[in-house]
Amino acid sequence: RHEEALAARSKDNLRSPICCILGHVDTGKTKLLDKIRQTNVQEGEAGGITQQIGATYFPIENIKKKVAVLDKEGKQEYKLPGLLVIDTPGHESFTNLRSRGSSLCNIAVLVVDIMHGLEPQTLESLRLLRDKKTPFIVALNKIDRLYGWKTMPNNSFIDSLSKQSEAVKREFQMRLDRTNLEFAEQGLNSCVYYDNKKMGKVVSLVPTSAHTGEGVPDLLQLLINLTQERMSGSLMYLSELECTVLEVKVIEGLGTTIDVVLSNGILREGDRIVVCGLNGPIVTQVRALLTPQPMKEMRIKGAYVHHKEIKASMGVKITAPDLDKAIAGSRLLVVGEDDDEEDLMEEVMGDLQTLLSSIDKSGKGVCVQASTLGSLEALLDFLSASKIPVSGINIGPVYRKDVLRAGVMLEKAKEFATILAFDVPVDKEAEKYAEEVGVRIFKADIIYHLFDQFTAYNKSIVEEKKKEAAPAAVWPCRLKILQAFVRRDPIIVGCDIVDGTLRVGTPICVATVNGEGKKEIVPLGRVGSIEINHKPLDIVKKNQTGAGIAVKIDNPHNQAPKMVGRHFQETDLLLSQISRNSIDVLKQNFAGDLTKEDLHLIKRLKTTLDIP
Ligand code: GDP
Repeated sequence: RHEEALAARSKDNLRSPICCILGHVDTGKTKLLDKIRQTNVQEGEAGGITQQIGATYFPIENIKKKVAVLDKEGKQEYKLPGLLVIDTPGHESFTNLRSRGSSLCNIAVLVVDIMHGLEPQTLESLRLLRDKKTPFIVALNKIDRLYGWKTMPNNSFIDSLSKQSEAVKREFQMRLDRTNLEFAEQGLNSCVYYDNKKMGKVVSLVPTSAHTGEGVPDLLQLLINLTQERMSGSLMYLSELECTVLEVKVIEGLGTTIDVVLSNGILREGDRIVVCGLNGPIVTQVRALLTPQPMKEMRIKGAYVHHKEIKASMGVKITAPDLDKAIAGSRLLVVGEDDDEEDLMEEVMGDLQTLLSSIDKSGKGVCVQASTLGSLEALLDFLSASKIPVSGINIGPVYRKDVLRAGVMLEKAKEFATILAFDVPVDKEAEKYAEEVGVRIFKADIIYHLFDQFTAYNKSIVEEKKKEAAPAAVWPCRLKILQAFVRRDPIIVGCDIVDGTLRVGTPICVATVNGEGKKEIVPLGRVGSIEINHKPLDIVKKNQTGAGIAVKIDNPHNQAPKMVGRHFQETDLLLSQISRNSIDVLKQNFAGDLTKEDLHLIKRLKTTLDIP
């Protein structure tokens, strides 16, 4: 069926591209969207703009009018029926607009405040865009805040800039250069859009003002040109259905509804549909397909327009029974005549299954929780790239049972006894319970912030563990005796480090030959102090010694003191007395600090000391 659908498509039957707006908070995403939506008031009409569910549809006629200031001779070509812009800016809708792990967003606008440059959520958006290979342009917004900017409402940016003072032009250039530099730091080439000769490789920056409307024509023109020239292939209308759940909402009088974006194909009232649910696949029947009333009738609260059928691209609200457990970000499939319902159920749950497969086989790892399938996927992608193992996933608010699950880690690996809660609320009781048992919950709506919180916590736990383990850890070392002072307790020797590192507290032994000519391991005690030139040190490395070190070895408790010449010889090497347990402690807690030489020496000492 997919092949049939592909064959039937054509360049004359293009659908509208779907556009998302992303960026840091307060950069002007909402304002910019409002500005694009704003219609020519004098004409007293909506200009064909239709408000949909979760999206706004801009017919090409409307866009033409807005771009006219840039296209006085009418040379601009238009091949698309229009543009569908998703209404909720931000990464949530972007990550939910997905199908089989790839993004249904055809093009994105990343909004950057020209006065602030790249901010944390800008970087997060960049990563999401890169992960999904989504083409995007940058709106360099708030140009009206450049000092002394003269406003020319809804003008093209190039024309507006040419009429500014030298000082404004200079400030603009300075901020533009700085932004380009910041993009370069992220590994991206960028330049102001009218200088961009390589659209496929270089990110275009469009200076805009969501207040004055300047640069908005430029932005729309670029969106249209980029989509119709570069992606007409993916915009050819397919009869095959492609539909995603953006939001699950409870509406008074309608119950639980799903807001979907239909990006290909046709949906009909009465269709039998399948979506991914928290407790398994949901199969139900479309009761109604709804869109909002046209603008002028918006006053009639709660009233919707009913549709018998709807063709892509379109944002629609679906009412149907049994939707309460539906997951935002899920694909929506329609059961056709020849379809096996079971197959579709499996297919739709496949997305969740894929995410479940990212759970670490070791059973050790953090628990993660996100609001939707899309945001969970984004978080898991990031954690996998950061090599942070995951032991459990869930969608929705954090409850006591989630804390209970994370609590299993307290025994297994304390540093992972955490819940990373991305964009979801934490139930009060769950929070209290977590505190009681010692499960840490990190909350953030930026993945980076979760990561930072977790890594800081993880580091503190690792340090704590090291501190606890330190007495049981024995670092490998071999010492050559330069001078032995003949006294019983404590032993004081001048020595050189042959290899390894000597630390205060290290147990020392010799492997000597006893009177019967047999190898004997004689424990001497623990290093009580180390001095170089009468200066005490806690740790001394090989090569750090120069003229040698003075080492005091305290006699072990409950043992007869050992004496040089009696229990061991001056020619014997002093060895750190490692054991099976001390090796394990070292490897478990200090793996990152062990050098190759250390490991080699441990092997050698194992042989000498007959450790299996
Ligand atoms: P969002 O969080 O990205 O959706 O940002 P908003 O659209 O809510 O805008 C945040 C603030 O910036 C509001 O106070 C807007 O009035 C202001 N703002 C947005 N765009 C512009 C602009 O182009 N120029 C100026 N001067 N202020 C703007």
